[in-house]
Amino acid sequence: MMEVFTGSFTQQEPICEEGIAAAVEVMRHGRLHRYNTAVGEISHTALVEEEFAALTGAKYALAVASGGYAIGAALRAAGVQHGDRVLTNAFTLAPVPGAIASVGGIPDLVEVTEDLVIDLGHLEAKAATGQSKYLLLSHMRGHICDMDRLMAICTAHGITVIEDCAHTMGATFKGIQSGRHGLIGCYSTQTYKHMNSGEGGFLVTDDAETMARAIILSGSYMLYERHRAAPPPEVFEQVKYITPNISGRMDNLRAAILRPQIAALPERIDGWNARYTRVKEGLSNCPGLRTIEHHEDAAQVGSSIQFLLPDWPAEKVTDLLTCCAKRGVELKWFGKAEPVAFTSRYDSWQYFASEKLPNTDRILAGLIDMRLPLTFSLSDCDLIARIIREEVSVLYQAA
Ligand SMILES: *Cc1c(COP(=O)(O)O)cnc(C)c1O
Repeated sequence: MMEVFTGSFTQQEPICEEGIAAAVEVMRHGRLHRYNTAVGEISHTALVEEEFAALTGAKYALAVASGGYAIGAALRAAGVQHGDRVLTNAFTLAPVPGAIASVGGIPDLVEVTEDLVIDLGHLEAKAATGQSKYLLLSHMRGHICDMDRLMAICTAHGITVIEDCAHTMGATFKGIQSGRHGLIGCYSTQTYKHMNSGEGGFLVTDDAETMARAIILSGSYMLYERHRAAPPPEVFEQVKYITPNISGRMDNLRAAILRPQIAALPERIDGWNARYTRVKEGLSNCPGLRTIEHHEDAAQVGSSIQFLLPDWPAEKVTDLLTCCAKRGVELKWFGKAEPVAFTSRYDSWQYFASEKLPNTDRILAGLIDMRLPLTFSLSDCDLIARIIREEVSVLYQAA
């Protein structure tokens, strides 16, 4: 009999009781706005910023309305001006070039490698042209490149690095938290990421003036002294008259839900990595399918898994998706010509001109992606891998 998986690929874990209790308390007293505090009270938002700064080892942290907002504010705080070119990954999700567009920047796409990281050779060639002074580095699907080499290239060419860590919250490179190599690290706490507040995000930096600008941008008015993971008031004196207020604050309800999740993150990371390892082992040495190897210095968070179907014709990939879906396994394909759900290819972002990227085209044509929610058991992971393996074998042999 054919095995079928009956679980859900989009079911999250519930919010923990401690988070629910804190959220209910906020709703009971009604002070949801981060600057609406009783005498002597410190808001959950100010506290979650301190706790997030401690988690990442950054001097300063700011909680905002979304991950995409964090990236846009980071670009603006770092000085991106209208018309500036911003290097970024061709393999990423739509909010990344979208954040560049939100500040009037022009995305300048860099190829992806078969390990699904930014192509450092292509980056270096683009950096050498001197056309872009910024890199928005997306650690897409948790794959971390050689950060030492990346930073050396960017430093040599005077390029400011901003990191999109939507998929690497809690991941490290040589023991350093993802988001701590560049000037600013940006994170999302949207439901499908590593912490869940529905919507939300953080940005972190060690640079005082950059953080002062980001805080004013986020909509602090002149209440910036209420922030704790922030530089001293005198730093704001230099920026407060020349930085626009572009509201995108986090509120106390979301912050209350997030605070216990910071403490729980290491355990959740172990949970994702255990699931990732089981699926990856189940797919190893499968003819026609290539698993992805991590950089040896990267400790990633396996909240999703990818594999390549090298040189498969599009019809065969479509067949695989259909056959797996019939057995309850939801695969996403980055090579599909039309954008579907969360997945789109760079050639669907037609609000800016991009050159053809032949390596990215070839890799995305065979790139399959699958979420690994913590609601999967380890035996679910084994079953899912068996189903994919069987369907790949049938189709690959028939080719
Ligand atoms: C989700 C995501 C974002 C944006 O986060 P939101 O909180 O949804 O705005 C940015 N980059 C990547 C790679 C993402 O997956």
